[in-house]
Amino acid sequence: AVETSAPLAVLGSDVTVPLVTGGEVTYAALDYAASAPALRRVWDDVAAYAPYYGSVHRGAGYLSQLSTDLFETSRKDVAAFLGCREDDQVVFTRSTTDSLNLLAAALPTGTEVFVFETEHHASLLPWEQREDTRVTYLSAPRSSREAVETLEKALAGRDGGPALVCVTGASNVTGELWPVRELAAAAHARGARIVLDAAQLAPHHPVDIAEADVDWVAFSGHKLYAPFGAGVLAGRADWLREARPYLAGGGASRKVARRDDGGVDVEWHTTAARHEAGSPNVIGVYAIASACRALSEAGFDGLVARERQLIATVREGLAEVPEVRLLSLFGDDAPRVGVLSFVVEGWNSSHFAAALSAEYGIGVRDGLFCAHPLVRTLLGSEPGDQGECGAPEAAPGERSLNAIRVSFGAGTPDEHVERFVRAVK
Ligand code: PMP
Repeated sequence: AVETSAPLAVLGSDVTVPLVTGGEVTYAALDYAASAPALRRVWDDVAAYAPYYGSVHRGAGYLSQLSTDLFETSRKDVAAFLGCREDDQVVFTRSTTDSLNLLAAALPTGTEVFVFETEHHASLLPWEQREDTRVTYLSAPRSSREAVETLEKALAGRDGGPALVCVTGASNVTGELWPVRELAAAAHARGARIVLDAAQLAPHHPVDIAEADVDWVAFSGHKLYAPFGAGVLAGRADWLREARPYLAGGGASRKVARRDDGGVDVEWHTTAARHEAGSPNVIGVYAIASACRALSEAGFDGLVARERQLIATVREGLAEVPEVRLLSLFGDDAPRVGVLSFVVEGWNSSHFAAALSAEYGIGVRDGLFCAHPLVRTLLGSEPGDQGECGAPEAAPGERSLNAIRVSFGAGTPDEHVERFVRAVK
């Protein structure tokens, strides 16, 4: 159903799966928010270079030079994709989780952190890993205006030391867009900095770091059609340059020498390499850069318009099922990316998701989506003891303690979304 020549064509649409009811069907991957399929373009780019892999930054040979060039050119491509300012650094990491933990480790001593309780655990939890940070958890707002007001109120009482606000651009549960520019303005007006968790935003909308006026952006390759194990933290260089290296080792150090007293003196790099010790994931990084180039060339207008149609199909279809309740923080009509969560009255969400898979060949996600406080607010319930991101045990027919999430993006055929709506009905 997907034209392979389309600029944002994805892989995996040829997978067929058996149904418990007999026969087989093409797999409908509707779990892009967890991991999106690879763009064909990314796969082709990786395939072209993977055979010619060499050690980055460490070899005089041709293949080392080639890999080093790919790695450093990728940094420039990612910087261009994000609209980075001249002094911004692009640090390559493993994922959004890794990027935010890196930033947490790089905070100046005693930084005050402000974070909404509605965040994904990756942006909610890293800050308290530092014993010297003070974290203020902000209550779930019920509109974007309330989000800005809540932040303004919280920042009004802060002292003059370093402060950081962490906010997601698009929720991984509701898909709702957060007022990033306004939150950045509120943060900066009070001398705080802001990091944007763009894990769900970047695959669906242009992210321009300078225009949004955020200090850092974090995202993951595997949600941006580049599933090869790399992520990005991009933004202000000063805190990163002054911080203790995230990983200590080769590549991060410029000069290491024994001291007369027997110890070791280390001069660390002040570039992004300071936090990238060890042999980097060149292929993962190159895949991200390839996805960034593909998205930039195709532009987001078509993607956004198409997603809007698919969101409308899902919303209209689900609205015809009285037992379905869509989960929204800012209202069902609030602008969102192609990520929607819901519960079905009288159904255990895990059983429902399992049935979508077994009977219709549809892959969605069920659970609490690593955002327990948010899902608790949305469901108005206390999630059970279901583990970090998993599904609680609830008997069929009991009130849902978790939710079902459907998500899509580039390359999603109409048929997948139509089949999903039919199946729910
Ligand atoms: N933030 C958000 C909003 C996410 O949706 C996710 C992934 N579900 C993450 C952070 C963490 O991303 P990763 O697992 O790639 O580190």
